[in-house]
Amino acid sequence: MIPNQYTIATLGSHSALQILKGGKDEGFNTLLVTTHERSDFYRRFRFIDQIIEIPSLSQFPRIEKKLKVDNCILIPHGSFIEYLGINGNKKITIPYFGNKKVLDWETDRQKQRSWLKKSRIRLPRQFKDLNDVYFPVIVKSYGAAGGKGYFYAKNKTDLQKKLKTFPPKKYIIQEYIIGVTMYFHYFYSNVSRILDLMSVDRRYETNVDSLGRIPLMGQTDLSIEPSYVVVGNSPLSVRESLLPQVYRMGEQVVSVSRKIIDKYGLYGPFCLETVITPDQKIYVIEISCRIVAGTNLFMNGSPYSWLIYDEPMSMGRRIAKEIKMAIKQNKLDLITD
Ligand code: AMP
Repeated sequence: MIPNQYTIATLGSHSALQILKGGKDEGFNTLLVTTHERSDFYRRFRFIDQIIEIPSLSQFPRIEKKLKVDNCILIPHGSFIEYLGINGNKKITIPYFGNKKVLDWETDRQKQRSWLKKSRIRLPRQFKDLNDVYFPVIVKSYGAAGGKGYFYAKNKTDLQKKLKTFPPKKYIIQEYIIGVTMYFHYFYSNVSRILDLMSVDRRYETNVDSLGRIPLMGQTDLSIEPSYVVVGNSPLSVRESLLPQVYRMGEQVVSVSRKIIDKYGLYGPFCLETVITPDQKIYVIEISCRIVAGTNLFMNGSPYSWLIYDEPMSMGRRIAKEIKMAIKQNKLDLITD
């Protein structure tokens, strides 16, 4: 078997368990790089063949050489950006699953917006001039992660007051879409050129998702401000009549990325984060161009992956399957950077 000459490797955090379990299920060797404090936890799992300890995840570059010897393919997840930054990711020299050029388009809010606009996707309006703002709005500071540092403003006075009280350095003002949040997890194969919807989740954000538990009367004097800090995820199925649109959105994003981003554009796992309004309009508020933590709900597959694969298929396993297919067809350059 070819896979056992290769090792699927990742950092010990975020979605490492599903990535390595998926790698093992597809016949690869598996390796985890993690800190001393976490290594005992990860040793519980028999599908992890090798664990390398480093003092902190940001010191990953120090052990790169060792991974070259083991014929590793590195699978990035959310913690790669958090601990290594964009430049740290770009400097990685061992085969990296995904196109690093996409990082620039994803992390620059203006570039991301122009990509999504070109993809003819519905986006919340964005306002430059305070006088042009339609309310309500959400203010997003640059570099905020997991919804921290966002705030809501219901009208101009409220916005002006809040911008004075917590002035973010660099921020955007976006139309606040009142609807239900849904996060669509896609996988695009650059080997077979097919897009699959793998699963759907909803983030559970505190306190915005709990405000409805206190009646308005009880909130009036408390002056509660909604916050958007993610603390959990729950699985969702989506109304079937919306699915064609969901697929179309994913295909448009991929197709435009192939035109504007060098080296095959976006491929592998990605997520469109959306809000759906009562008139069934799907607004995309963000794109994440890698495996997202919401896929951890589906270690054993989801109702949607079950429609496509006759075996349990997590996103981690789908990644390993893609690598296996690329190795067999001698096309690793199509899926690694
Ligand atoms: P994001 O970091 O862009 O995924 O946003 C974090 C959370 O803020 C989302 O999950 C939503 O609950 C909320 N949010 C962001 N943008 C909007 C928007 N334009 N309208 C309504 N809610 C939003």
